[in-house]
Amino acid sequence: MTGLMAGRRGLIMGVANDHSIAWGIARTLHAHGAELAFTYQGEALGRRVGPLAAKLGSDVVLPCDVEDLASVDAAFAKLDERFDGRLDFVVHAIGFSDKAQLKGRYVDVTTRENFSRTMTVSCFSFTEIAQRAARRMGPGGALLTLTYGGATRVMPNYNVMGVAKAALEASVRYLAADLGPDGIRVNALSAGPVRTLAGAGIADARLMFNHQKAHAPLRRTVSLDDVGGSALYLLSDLSGGVTGEIHFVDSGYNIISMPRPDVLQA
Ligand code: NAD
Repeated sequence: MTGLMAGRRGLIMGVANDHSIAWGIARTLHAHGAELAFTYQGEALGRRVGPLAAKLGSDVVLPCDVEDLASVDAAFAKLDERFDGRLDFVVHAIGFSDKAQLKGRYVDVTTRENFSRTMTVSCFSFTEIAQRAARRMGPGGALLTLTYGGATRVMPNYNVMGVAKAALEASVRYLAADLGPDGIRVNALSAGPVRTLAGAGIADARLMFNHQKAHAPLRRTVSLDDVGGSALYLLSDLSGGVTGEIHFVDSGYNIISMPRPDVLQA
């Protein structure tokens, strides 16, 4: 592999299992020389993340629930002990919404309570992580979050997650503008559908998966390696001049405006 990330220390947030997008990204970054730390949400996931981290040579595995700011600060304090207060990059691959509201019409099912919770976990946590990470970064630092095409176009059942992703994408631009003068870059990957725990929470996920496979220019969905490769680009010096960007890794699905006529007619 290239050694593109050699000497870089980074925090990976959002591994739940070996299907997680964060895991695909971690695998790729490790293969290119990065030294990694991981956070996990809750003890049950911790039991899964520990062995996965070990596969990538890491024993820095820290609990962190972004709904509990004390646990975020505790994770960064522990990270400082292991990384000498220095950090080169963060991958934020965290999202949550009440699954009962990822089904049906947005206008009917969305409650104030779940709207706020979804926004806090899926959007504002990235800003809170950026606030803490940026203080530990120098020029060359990079922050990356994960978004979805449902941020800008309506996807059935994506509902409040789409609204949160739109706000997340706006946050990427504001954070990029603020942190750019310090040489810190902030970008998002907009991934096509991937079969993960979070992905399975959206009603008719399989339908959306098959639809994108049929209509995306590449006629396939994306793999964890595809997403990992794009993350490597956005976190390494290869993209040194890129910030505030929403980069699609979706087999080109986002450029399509209508289903293929041959499929519609079939
Ligand atoms: P996943 O279920 O593997 O990962 C989601 C992660 O979010 C889990 O590790 C979970 O523990 C974490 N999380 C949720 N609430 C949290 C909290 N309060 N504190 C800390 N962590 C919390 O699913 P994934 O699909 O890999 O999701 C990662 C990111 O990718 C999410 O932002 C998701 O919206 C985004 N994304 C997913 C897809 C897809 O099709 N799967 C497509 C585009 C973007």
